[in-house]
Amino acid sequence: MNKLEGKVAVITGGNSGIGLATAQRFVAEGAYVYITGRRQSELDAAVRQIGKNVTAVQGDVSNLADLDRLYATVQQQHGHIDIVFANAGVGEFVPLGKISEAHFDKIFDINVKGLLFTVQKALPLLRDGSSIILTASSTANKGTEAFSVYSASNAAIRSFARSWILDLKARKIRVNAVSPGPTNTPGSDDLVTTEEERKQFKASAAASVPLGRMGEPDEIAKAVVFLASDDSSFITGIELAIDGGQAQI
Ligand code: NAD
Repeated sequence: MNKLEGKVAVITGGNSGIGLATAQRFVAEGAYVYITGRRQSELDAAVRQIGKNVTAVQGDVSNLADLDRLYATVQQQHGHIDIVFANAGVGEFVPLGKISEAHFDKIFDINVKGLLFTVQKALPLLRDGSSIILTASSTANKGTEAFSVYSASNAAIRSFARSWILDLKARKIRVNAVSPGPTNTPGSDDLVTTEEERKQFKASAAASVPLGRMGEPDEIAKAVVFLASDDSSFITGIELAIDGGQAQI
């Protein structure tokens, strides 16, 4: 407990799945969190669930004006940031041959452009020595069927972490990525449409993991707390796989 006492954190996609579980852990560890997401109703529900020390700002990470509004709110209320968890992201199954420009633009606008500007626009408020954590995916490190655009977007995120530790070295800001394997979240449920497809998808996801099951959002959140806290004070530029071994085989 209290690993993040007095810290101010921004979490994109903090109203669902991995982001919401992390917001709950951050607050339990003593942080104040700003969460952002696209749907106001989900943000309201998340605020009720988190219970205290949270402000929700509705917005789309691929819209730079929305990011400006988010950081203006943080600036007004706290004046600085200690932790950025750039976590918002989307995936869709589309095989090569069927990839539309709209699909490519959507995935890269949110997962790559949105994440980049989430971090860049936080820089004036970030204290020296702060921690940035990016959500990538185990799919960045392996072949994936009908998921190549999503997987490539996550490889870009992994690359950002490596480069940004150099861009930010004078300020001693740490940048690390987490790479979840298949994780039980509303986002992964939405990858398929029918209940039958969902059952099959979850069974094959579990079978692709050496530990034989999907991960839970809180298992990712615990690792993000580690990377956000002083427990990882000499760790930067890494990708922490939290995938039951999936990307290693
Ligand atoms: P989720 O759908 O439950 O949560 C995603 C969150 O991102 C939601 O809060 C949503 O509002 C937000 N979001 C999406 N697009 C946005 C946008 N344009 N602007 C602002 N917010 C936006 O899904 P999740 O599984 O918790 O996903 C979180 C992250 O984890 C994503 O980046 C995803 O790619 C990554 N990931 C998920 C899994 C998995 O199996 N669930 C595996 C590896 C990586």
